[in-house]
Amino acid sequence: MQFFKKLNLIAAVSILTVGTAHAVEPTPVDWFNAGYQTVFNAKRLIANNRHAKNVILFIGDGMGVSTITASRIYDGQTKGGHGEENSLSFEKLPYLALSKTYSVDQQTPDSAPTMTAMVTGVKTIGDSLSVNQYVVHSEKNANIINANKLATILEQAKQHGLSAGIVSTARITHATPAATYAHTANRDWEGDSDKLAGATVPDIAAQLVDFNISGGIDVALGGGRTRFIPNTVKDPEYGVSGKRKDGRNLTVDWTTKHRNARYVWNQAGFDAIDPNTTDHLLGLFEPSHVHYEADRVAYDQSGEPSLTQMTTKAIDILKKNQKGYFLMVEGGRIDHAHHSGNAYRALTETQQFAAAVKAAMDATDPLETLIIVTADHSHVFTIGGYPQRGNPILGLTQGVGATTPDLDLLGLPYTTLNYANGTGYTGASNAQPAGSKTFTIPATAGWASGSEGHNPTSFQPANGRPILDSAKVEDDNYLQEAIVPLSAETHAAEDVAIFAGGPKAHLFHGILEQNVIYHVMAEALGFN
Ligand SMILES: [Zn+2]
Repeated sequence: MQFFKKLNLIAAVSILTVGTAHAVEPTPVDWFNAGYQTVFNAKRLIANNRHAKNVILFIGDGMGVSTITASRIYDGQTKGGHGEENSLSFEKLPYLALSKTYSVDQQTPDSAPTMTAMVTGVKTIGDSLSVNQYVVHSEKNANIINANKLATILEQAKQHGLSAGIVSTARITHATPAATYAHTANRDWEGDSDKLAGATVPDIAAQLVDFNISGGIDVALGGGRTRFIPNTVKDPEYGVSGKRKDGRNLTVDWTTKHRNARYVWNQAGFDAIDPNTTDHLLGLFEPSHVHYEADRVAYDQSGEPSLTQMTTKAIDILKKNQKGYFLMVEGGRIDHAHHSGNAYRALTETQQFAAAVKAAMDATDPLETLIIVTADHSHVFTIGGYPQRGNPILGLTQGVGATTPDLDLLGLPYTTLNYANGTGYTGASNAQPAGSKTFTIPATAGWASGSEGHNPTSFQPANGRPILDSAKVEDDNYLQEAIVPLSAETHAAEDVAIFAGGPKAHLFHGILEQNVIYHVMAEALGFN
């Protein structure tokens, strides 16, 4: 009897987790047994109190809980299922907590103080990277920065003889990756030409290449070439000029400074890297951010690796160190897609981010590697209406049993995904329904202006809600409707999730201040 019951349980779980659920619907007994099985598994969960050899910190920039839910459904629907029953890779990690993301001076934070909290254990003020709250915004004086800088987990890893890597789809000098290695009171000082006149604090790109603890950073993969190249040198892919005024070519400095070092800027160069013979790898695949995953293959001139490929290559280089490694991986453009008001790219970026986490889970031993997956902050992104089970997540809301979309008080259909503010605003009057708005792919899609890399959108207020149909709203470039017109959709202040597995992962529980993440990593690595 016991044996028979166990077989039933396994069958029930597979029905609920396999993505092709359209054909086989779980019965009431299946639901009950699958719920029981989850508790059964939880009872056998044993806290891993071992020392962590390695720590991998995954940051989905702007990946709030609504983004995770919508991406899970999108991913499940692309696999042929209803979607709701699907799980992203990191949702299978055993421990979960919530993270309070506010900074010392911001109710809704930006990526600089949030990442500072996660990698130094200390909250600070907006726009500041790994310096404490007593440093004023845009402090120019390097001595003041030095006196108030906060040690990062990456720096401590290097001091303890571990290897260290950073991977991002944003510029590698952008706030999230930069907080791991740079100290500055203005996140926008990515290159020397970005700084205020007279500032003696080094720019972020220079801090990356000049990082001097234990032989320097081992792997840095992402975008942002122009901040590394002098203004007298042309970009190899697009022919535009570099931005450095100090004459330094930091890509050359990287290879001359380090042992067994390589610099690559396209897919072919990346693919040719042998992890066994390369100890220091710098890869900069776009002048600015790398492409959205949705556009990467179609639009990149010279080819560039996916987040998953970059993550795998970084692990293959870092794991050669028997003492272990610290790796930070950022899905940097989930945030950018949301700022642009385009849910499709936010969801496909999250899907790729989940694939990168899966690659890391597959490549590491959970007994010795702590994997953390979290976000720096959320976005004003909602999943609403009463759509029926399996309704296309990017589609028009259609209720249970309905054969046509649900209608609002104007008699117009509406989407399940919306934003509280941003670029998708279509007007306040109900008198003149206007056309829906669409995302513009810039000529070189990695190019974006502004500290957060918002894609430029032409703001054209119209009157009334648009007349929508499935073809419009399920177009890859559709901008979901927003209530408040802003040139860019904003971050949101609600808590974000922390998923974790591996040594000391059980220390993540309850609702935590964001800076606790550092302290768990330091505890796991034995730095406390
Ligand atoms: Zn942002």
